[in-house]
Amino acid sequence: MKTLLSITAAVIAAGSAFAAPVNSTCIMSGKPIKEGVTSEYKGKTVGFCCNNCKARFDSNPDKFGKKIAK
Ligand SMILES: [Zn+2]
Repeated sequence: MKTLLSITAAVIAAGSAFAAPVNSTCIMSGKPIKEGVTSEYKGKTVGFCCNNCKARFDSNPDKFGKKIAK
């Protein structure tokens, strides 16, 4: 039981590290990203400054995805 708990904790820790946004500024506006406002794109977590930018990205991820990972 104790082993199972430590494995679960490790998975959660790895998951949260992986979920860190690849960008520090909003790719839509250039403003600092806001914690918790993220979207997934090709296995990467993308951060946004507001839900409006996230919604715009989500409506056309292939267009805006090119701005990621320069
Ligand atoms: Zn924004």
